[in-house]
Amino acid sequence: MAELKLDSPLQYLKGVGPQKAAAFEKAGLSTVQDLLFYLPRAYLDRTSVTPIRDVKVDQSATIVGQVKAHGMLHGKRRRYEVILQDDTGAIPLLWFQGLRFWERLFKKGMWFAATGTVSYFQGYQMVHPDLERLGDEGDQMIHAGRIIPVYPQTAELIKAGLSSKTIRRLTTFVLENLKDRIEDPLPVSEAERFALPDRHKAICKIHYPDDRAQVEACRRRMAFDELLELQYLVLRSRQEKTAARKGHSYAAPGERLRVFKERLAFELTSGQKKVVKEIFADLQSEHPMSRLLQGDVGCGKTVVAIIAALYVAENNLQTAFMAPTEILAEQHYRNWREPLQALGVNSALLTASTGKAEKETVAAACARGEVDILFGTHALIYDYVSFSRLGLVIIDEQHRFGVKQRGKLYKKGETPDLLVMTATPIPRTLALTLYGDLNISSIDTMPPGRKPIRTVWRYYSVRQRVYQFVRDDIGRGGQAYIIYPLIEKSDRVELENVEDAFADLSANEFAGLRVGMVHGRIKAKERDDVLARFRDRQLDILMATTVVEVGIDNPNATVMVIEHAERFGLAQLHQLRGRIGRGTRKATMVALAHPPISDIARRRLDYLVQATDGFKVAEADLELRGPGEIFGVRQSGVPEMRATRLSADADLLEGARSLVERLITDTKSLDSEYGRLYTYLQSLTAERMLAPFGG
Ligand code: ADP
Ligand code: MG
Repeated sequence: MAELKLDSPLQYLKGVGPQKAAAFEKAGLSTVQDLLFYLPRAYLDRTSVTPIRDVKVDQSATIVGQVKAHGMLHGKRRRYEVILQDDTGAIPLLWFQGLRFWERLFKKGMWFAATGTVSYFQGYQMVHPDLERLGDEGDQMIHAGRIIPVYPQTAELIKAGLSSKTIRRLTTFVLENLKDRIEDPLPVSEAERFALPDRHKAICKIHYPDDRAQVEACRRRMAFDELLELQYLVLRSRQEKTAARKGHSYAAPGERLRVFKERLAFELTSGQKKVVKEIFADLQSEHPMSRLLQGDVGCGKTVVAIIAALYVAENNLQTAFMAPTEILAEQHYRNWREPLQALGVNSALLTASTGKAEKETVAAACARGEVDILFGTHALIYDYVSFSRLGLVIIDEQHRFGVKQRGKLYKKGETPDLLVMTATPIPRTLALTLYGDLNISSIDTMPPGRKPIRTVWRYYSVRQRVYQFVRDDIGRGGQAYIIYPLIEKSDRVELENVEDAFADLSANEFAGLRVGMVHGRIKAKERDDVLARFRDRQLDILMATTVVEVGIDNPNATVMVIEHAERFGLAQLHQLRGRIGRGTRKATMVALAHPPISDIARRRLDYLVQATDGFKVAEADLELRGPGEIFGVRQSGVPEMRATRLSADADLLEGARSLVERLITDTKSLDSEYGRLYTYLQSLTAERMLAPFGG
């Protein structure tokens, strides 16, 4: 075989034929270098493995052992059992799902590492652990004390025979035979400042570290590289934005704004006032606004956006106000149409369920400039919608939209101002990365009179008591939401669904109460009707899927029960919780968890109970899930961060940001080492365009 270089195709490695190469390709890996950047997701070492004898109930553990026996057990619930054994003892591993798969997998004598929470039922056991097959390395690891990398697995890689174990064999081979060195563009003094190893060493040792501390040092080095690249993109994009000029200008706020505020049923909170000021200053600036408005669920972002839109209308410009669901778009429209109309400001609504003729009328009026504020859903981005003088684009719950959708709406105007809103507060670290090219406004006050929402989580087994609690609360004049993960019964997952539960509960536990149901497959007209009845207190209970997650506003709702709370993300649970406690009455959320509950789900639920503040929830969510899953990094156009752990790497982030700022602003006076880094970042990102907001 020819010399092994960084750009050698993976296909030429021994044991990688066309089929495996294709699977690698699909996972984004084509060269030796790509493989080296395929980072272990975990490590097994002797110190992190618990001898079976020492496992404890309710604690998570990784155990390594050999299959002593395995088979299907028939009882009240069919399950597959495997007895795993090490030098110190044996423990059953159990699966209730995917039985046939497990049946085929196990053979006596195989080595496995199993990670999961230990529970007790007639003895210690582990339900649905994470498994990794080890081969003889299990033996080696235990007896020779090596640290073994565990690689991320996708179904496709596994199907092609690329198990973690196979990948391990390939990385070992590559590291023993590689003739190239990975170049390091980072000036030595910068590496020293953060005690980071050089790049080549970091990439090699992260696969086969000498000890745990080395793993962390290598990871931080790779994280720093990722953050440098990201900050370069973000700061560049910001530079371009601030250089642009918009084609419209604003007069001082006028009479209609004053009257509108006077007529509001409430006084704006100090947080709202502060943010209105910030937005107005941006609108008056000659550069287009790119502002993210964040604030916890229920803090009152909508009225701030409406005030901005009214200012825009005063200046004879149009606003597009896009929301992620029809329910929400309609609610905004219905709530604000009349007070705006009274001031001579025309609004209109456009969603997928707007009738054809109506759509044409609205689009034509909007194109002629007769609509001042156009509310709507994704329907707004279609080609037939146009504006004659679009001045402001507002995107509510912006994380629900993809980059392309936001960009398309934005392009309907000539450098309009942009206001995006989110109810999931963003920790500073994430704000600087994902939204580093936006200015951020935060509403940090709640309307007066709100009481904290009492939150508890309970096992499903006590659901009867929970239903009793719901009945009692309704008896005291409250209203309840009950949320389900599924619309209807599914063959693939054993989860409660809203249709069956509705049929069952409304005839039994909730007989005599007025119960309604909404989900994504109910026709818009009927769904509106149910929601209107719930809002008007003609229904006591609303059973729903997460279609009610964002925006729905019924101040009289006091209870929310979440079925299968273990399946929902923390940020989502917090959003859902924001649907209640909007009035002055005390509100309660009950998260019902159906076992088995993973460790991480348990931590999420504990956190939900403890943290009522959206900022704390967001921080915890970031820590538990990583940024990708929370904010849709993958679709945002931001490079994927594999090594970075924002919750732990704030120092690196700040360091990368100030270094890049220096590179960009002092470009001309950089010495050769720094100049090299600058050129490197330029070449790396030349092809990548960062336009998270299309602006
Ligand atoms: P979110 O920030 O989650 O979008 P909304 O804009 O839906 O919150 O506001 C939640 C509720 O609070 C609405 O019923 C709204 O009318 C009300 N509200 C907003 N601002 C105030 C205020 N300053 N005082 C009292 N109620 C307010
Ligand atoms: Mg909102």
